[in-house]
Amino acid sequence: MILFKKTGDLRRWIEQQQISGNAIGFVPTMGALHAGHISLIDISKRSCPVTVCSIFVNPTQFNDPGDYQKYPITIEKDIALLEAAGTDALFLPEVSEMYPDGITNLETYDLGHLETILEGKYRPGHFQGVCQVMRRLLRLVRPDDLFMGSKDYQQCMVVQRLIHLMDWSIRLHRCPIVREPDGLAMSSRNTRLTPPERQRATAIYQSLLALRSGASLTIAEKMLTDAQFRTDYIAICDPETLEPTTPSPNSIALIAAFQGEVRLIDNLQL
Ligand code: AMP
Repeated sequence: MILFKKTGDLRRWIEQQQISGNAIGFVPTMGALHAGHISLIDISKRSCPVTVCSIFVNPTQFNDPGDYQKYPITIEKDIALLEAAGTDALFLPEVSEMYPDGITNLETYDLGHLETILEGKYRPGHFQGVCQVMRRLLRLVRPDDLFMGSKDYQQCMVVQRLIHLMDWSIRLHRCPIVREPDGLAMSSRNTRLTPPERQRATAIYQSLLALRSGASLTIAEKMLTDAQFRTDYIAICDPETLEPTTPSPNSIALIAAFQGEVRLIDNLQL
């Protein structure tokens, strides 16, 4: 695996791949990698001759400065995991490399209602930050295929919108959620849970399963409260628009809730 820290070096390597006719698969991450991230690398490797991963904890997408400061960093372990998975190139830039003119007064994007509902409502500015970093990464890597996790369901919709706004032909693949044996969706933030919090955290998945079995939102929310979660939202939505809807096999249930200091999200198609 080749490690790049500078945009110019990565750009030259990408151009060589393009001249050789190699389609590029891209997996952007914030590091502290787990099996969920590696599943994206595996899916990319099955579809594309070249797989590029990035690790960059993007400051502009954190609406909570404490969350940014405490974001787990495990670079040595990440590099070993990516190498074992057969990743071709890792881009590991500094903040100044991604934002040479600083991180204030950056461009904004018209994200429509996606910015005011669910994650958009509870994390103001978050999706602008996601678009700011994704625009820079995608312009640099110019992937044919982009692999993202459906755990961040609304983020996938936002990035799809960015691709549309930029008139790019990148194919976005929404990949399945990888879970721990007890159902908790894998997340870099899980490492910040204390052992009792980690045990209680499984209530998110239990609550989603209850909704799938026909439980009301009130009952599902009580399951979260009983497990000491503070719920930002629990909603049943149309999978295309994320507008609230009545439960149906096609609808999707989404949850964001705090266990202690750690905010977790998850979703399940009903
Ligand atoms: P992050 O490092 O949290 O920004 O995530 C990088 C990518 O990995 C995003 O596309 C996430 O949706 C995806 N991802 C995170 N957790 C999981 C998981 N448990 N299963 C599948 N994909 C995931």
